[in-house]
Amino acid sequence: MKPGFLPYSRHQVDQNDIEAVVDVLNSQWLTTGAKVIEFEEAVARYCGVKHAVAVSSGTAALHCAAFAAGIGPGDEVIVPAITFAATANCVAALGAKPIIVDVDPDTLLIDVCEIEKHLSASTKAVIAVDYAGQPCNYDILREVADRHKLNIIADSCHALGACFNDAPTGQLADLTVFSFHPVKHITTGEGGMVVTNDSRWIERMRRFRNHGITADHHQRSLEDTWYYEVVDLGYNYRITDFQCALGLSQLGKLNKWLAKRREIASHYTNAFETSITVHPLNVLPAVDHAYHLYVVRLDAEQLKISRAEVFKKLRENGIGANVHYIPLNLQPYYQKRFGACRGQCPAAEAAYEQILSLPIFPSMTEQDIERVIKTLKSIISNN
Ligand SMILES: *Cc1c(COP(=O)(O)O)cnc(C)c1O
Repeated sequence: MKPGFLPYSRHQVDQNDIEAVVDVLNSQWLTTGAKVIEFEEAVARYCGVKHAVAVSSGTAALHCAAFAAGIGPGDEVIVPAITFAATANCVAALGAKPIIVDVDPDTLLIDVCEIEKHLSASTKAVIAVDYAGQPCNYDILREVADRHKLNIIADSCHALGACFNDAPTGQLADLTVFSFHPVKHITTGEGGMVVTNDSRWIERMRRFRNHGITADHHQRSLEDTWYYEVVDLGYNYRITDFQCALGLSQLGKLNKWLAKRREIASHYTNAFETSITVHPLNVLPAVDHAYHLYVVRLDAEQLKISRAEVFKKLRENGIGANVHYIPLNLQPYYQKRFGACRGQCPAAEAAYEQILSLPIFPSMTEQDIERVIKTLKSIISNN
């Protein structure tokens, strides 16, 4: 039997999930109803935080969080070079400037020394990315942020269910963003959420997701049923009730799926621990990793085959390795608009030449895992 294609990530939807969605489709409320609130409360409870605002994507959640933090024209926000475009785009969308800084070469998490080097009078916030599912060192980040009066926004789109010093993501930053895209830990099709312990941000974010229209229903009913006020520039970033029903159903499986991701990761780590050519990223001792991605670095000095060739050969063998990410400072938009350039983030640029994300998702079988390990090892040893 020819083995099937193994993507780097794959969602899982079962009959319970489908029934939960169908129940909502048969009800009177398709959007902005009780399931949205129920999902917000469930994720907040899962993270042990007070507040949550569900929106239509992780990208919308980042936009919402940056807006809540008061980011606007003239402001600078520090972001790491190794991340998805949305981390920086939310800053640009608010008329502010993303300052792209280098990462730690061992973890590919934002390098705190680099943050300090790039601070200016205009710096308002840092967006820390919990890359691959490993939370940043929020003890050190907090120290720096407090010293310079910055807000910390965590882009935890990779790290739902991860912990730093036993505290889960959601509690680690001022505002934390999750994504429920199908490649992430749990899915709503498209969807995202901002969680926080600080009630100051909440009304602002609820308005932002609804055209900037004031969400004070009490006041509205006192005045007139038709009266409303647009008090900010907002968007339609609402999420539907049937998406939230899917999210709720998926959330019930998260811990089981996290355990499976960690098990797959430990297989990979054991397999490559002693390899002189394939190096898994470092995991900090204080971290419970959520393993959205399993990233290895190929040692170019030791190998006669390029990363691109390894990638191609893996694909030829049905293994959907991927590369996360092309450093932001190499992207034309940030170069043209914000003066980013090659050479600006040497650690990120060097890592980018070497990284590969191996398949990791909860429905992988032992044979799937062994197949990835064997195939990668044989590609490397034949070269
Ligand atoms: C997935 C992701 C996003 C965006 O989430 P969407 O739900 O796809 O909009 C943002 N940042 C990071 C790091 C991500 O991985």
